[in-house]
Amino acid sequence: MNFENLKYNAWAKNENTEKTSGRVSYSQFSMWSACPHSWKLKYIAKQEMEPGIHMTFGTSMHETLQYYIYVSHTQSATEADKLNLDVILRERLEYNYINDKGDGEHFSTPEELEEFYLDGVAIIHWLKKHRSEFFKIQDFELIGIELPINMPVFEDYSVNIIGYLDLVFLEKSTNTIFIIDIKTSTSGWNKYHKNDKVKTSQLVLYKKYFSEQYKHPIDKIKVSYHIIKRKVPKDPEYKVMLRRLQKFEPSSGSVTINRLMKSFRQFIEDTHDKEGNRLLEKEFDAISNGGKNCRFCTFKDMHDLCDPKKRK
Ligand code: SF4
Repeated sequence: MNFENLKYNAWAKNENTEKTSGRVSYSQFSMWSACPHSWKLKYIAKQEMEPGIHMTFGTSMHETLQYYIYVSHTQSATEADKLNLDVILRERLEYNYINDKGDGEHFSTPEELEEFYLDGVAIIHWLKKHRSEFFKIQDFELIGIELPINMPVFEDYSVNIIGYLDLVFLEKSTNTIFIIDIKTSTSGWNKYHKNDKVKTSQLVLYKKYFSEQYKHPIDKIKVSYHIIKRKVPKDPEYKVMLRRLQKFEPSSGSVTINRLMKSFRQFIEDTHDKEGNRLLEKEFDAISNGGKNCRFCTFKDMHDLCDPKKRK
């Protein structure tokens, strides 16, 4: 099994391989929303994201869980439960660590890798026990894993949005699509995470474009984040705190979609011309938001690219 390319698309007839001159992703939009100047720098400095253990662990958990779901739905739950997911996770972690490190320095230690691995094993064991609460098989058809979205953003722009959906199911009896995005987190999302529109709007945007590309009624699409928690309290006040998976459904009705599309349109107008070229000659505001945006920004110490005096 080729884990890096574990892609499955039962509705491949709706795949769109047409290329436009401009391509945007949700992460570009979220970058621009926080600090437009960082969006511009990403394309000028062509700075790659620095690897980190959280990213490596996230990728490895995605691959392991997606494979488990794939076998559950294309073979059977019994076959899926026979898989040695502990071994698969270890192999994926080792492979992804080497791959993410590339020629660079080590970004983790054997001890830290082992800690993340054991957290992953605890998640897997919990999920296998509770699978039917989150991933139903009967009446649910697996439509896609890493299902591609590739759609023109607006009719008057030669720009496409590109995205990949972690898991997509069809509940056959109700003709309802369920789009699931898996997030890895240290201890789950609190109310601030849930109220963070930039964090939660990704699936709302994907819902709209999925409906158009795969020709499925938008009111028959549900979206949810499945947040898997690496850590749970040792002595929890309530048993529910031991749950390793938290489900969050962002509001995604027509009012939310319309509001989101207005700011998505602003992003496209601000950053591209109608032919799909990026407007990299233009000045963009450097928004530090009291330093909050800069804390994890790749450009925070590159003062020639982002002058601290000009940060707002
Ligand atoms: S360092 Fe701060 S102000 Fe500068 S690009 Fe990054 S987020 Fe924006």
